[in-house]
Amino acid sequence: MKRDGDKKSIWQVDIENYAPVNGWEKDKTYDVLIVGGGITGLTAALLLQKEGKKCILAEAHNLGFGTTGGSSAHLNTILDSTYDEIEKKFGKENARHVATDTREAMDLIEGLVNAHHIECDFAYRTAYLLANTEQESNSLEKIKEASEQAGIMVNEAASVPLPLPYTKALRFEFQAQFHPVKYLHGLARAFEENGGIILQNCHVNSVEYNQQFTADTSLGNIYSSTIVYATHIPPGLNILHMRCAPYRSYVAAFRLKSGAYPDALAYDMQDPYHYFRTHKIEGKDYLIVGGFDHKTGHNNNTEYIFTELEAYVRQYYDVDTADYKWSSQYYIPADGLPYIGLMPGEDNIYVATGFNGNGLILGSLAAKLICTLIFGKEHYGQSLYNPSRIKPIAGFSSFVKENADAVSMFISKRLSYDKISELAELAPGEAVVAEWEGYKVALYKDENGGIHALDPVCPHAKCIVTWNNAEKSWDCPCHGARYAPNGDLLTGPARHGLTQIKWEGIDGD
Ligand SMILES: Cc1cc2nc3c(=O)[nH]c(=O)nc-3n(C[C@H](O)[C@H](O)[C@H](O)COP(=O)(O)OP(=O)(O)OC[C@H]3O[C@@H](n4cnc5c(N)ncnc54)[C@H](O)[C@@H]3O)c2cc1C
Repeated sequence: MKRDGDKKSIWQVDIENYAPVNGWEKDKTYDVLIVGGGITGLTAALLLQKEGKKCILAEAHNLGFGTTGGSSAHLNTILDSTYDEIEKKFGKENARHVATDTREAMDLIEGLVNAHHIECDFAYRTAYLLANTEQESNSLEKIKEASEQAGIMVNEAASVPLPLPYTKALRFEFQAQFHPVKYLHGLARAFEENGGIILQNCHVNSVEYNQQFTADTSLGNIYSSTIVYATHIPPGLNILHMRCAPYRSYVAAFRLKSGAYPDALAYDMQDPYHYFRTHKIEGKDYLIVGGFDHKTGHNNNTEYIFTELEAYVRQYYDVDTADYKWSSQYYIPADGLPYIGLMPGEDNIYVATGFNGNGLILGSLAAKLICTLIFGKEHYGQSLYNPSRIKPIAGFSSFVKENADAVSMFISKRLSYDKISELAELAPGEAVVAEWEGYKVALYKDENGGIHALDPVCPHAKCIVTWNNAEKSWDCPCHGARYAPNGDLLTGPARHGLTQIKWEGIDGD
């Protein structure tokens, strides 16, 4: 199974790409086209299909290619936006609604696992939130009070079953974990058993409405009455790109000499925070630890972050080997809650984004809510998570100020091979954005010494991409679009890849 990065996540171990069985009727108009084969898309597809809608799901690569395949797969009713923050911005009643919704999302996942016998290691765990400073202790108190009031089961922890430092800790019952890709494949099978259609390697380029939607895709036109963008961030230029900031987070899976793997989930309160849990893969336990988050495209040595992560873990654990290391992307919403519902300005296009680091729960919640909305049923979530809501977004300008740097430097001239070679004085595997006669050129030297030259202007909002040396991708620092070394699109919101720069003189071209 492939992912949107060069590094292998633990969820890719011994998992083949999903092989769909049902055939696509090319002339048929489906009730709903779901775009995106992550947890949001597959859950929505299954729920809609179960309710009688004829659904087709289009995934640009393979199921799990996006963040679902690069997650750390904790399932939490406690969120990155804490209940005291939610209460402050949205009020007590809405904080209770969010807590209810996250609980129901957990129940939905457990229910689907049981109903469809999905072997994805779903298991309830206790989670611990650890404070280490007076300020963190004070925050912990507020989190405890607001979480209790919202209806979350929480206690002060008498002890913590992990060798991590803390001065005070909270204990949350009925949190959970699972294997996200096995879960996705189980959902996909259930969806197909209900008559659903899955198309992989099917990139939706654009959609047009004329009595019905015609989606222009890499496999041809798909016709539908409704569209659901379950693409983690919607494609194209949209107000939601100003309200969601893309971040990278780093995860590694360790074997321990002692064999003392924790049977709990844990998080500290640093900014960015670290997260811990255990998972058994092919009969072997692994300690999974993550953190070191930063805004996408804003770190020039992402590979080094894994060195820092391992050094951090070695302070507390007798690490034997670090077997898997990977990073992935998430989107922080401006006011703390996800955007779920009708795409701003559209009638029959639904969207779900801004999940922060909780998208397995919030993506499931989104799928359920979108299903409710498509059937025209009333739900408080329609306004609470409304993508068109206007909320104060103090401090959010810092996330998007890079828009101001947007520049267009499209190269119409041709470079010579000699010039390219001179600019690309790089070791194999290295890349640089070089300057040439006032223009910028993105250059990557592959492991065989071949040079790939690209226009570094992201086609989404015209920002200049930067090199991510860990995942071997060109990442846009503005809205998080990502590209393979050859310029192919890995992750939206761009609709297509970077332009290749041709050069002269190598083949008599
Ligand atoms: C390191 C890390 C750890 C995390 N850990 C947790 C955790 O422990 N718990 C938790 O709840 N959340 C966690 N999250 C967040 C969570 O994993 C994500 O929010 C969630 O997986 C998003 O799911 P999704 O289905 O919306 O998007 P994705 O899984 O990204 O799926 C979107 C899919 O859409 C496809 N696509 C995009 N554009 C198109 C197009 N135009 N045409 C066709 N297909 C398209 C993509 O290829 C992709 O496969 C973590 C995130 C990160 C980065």
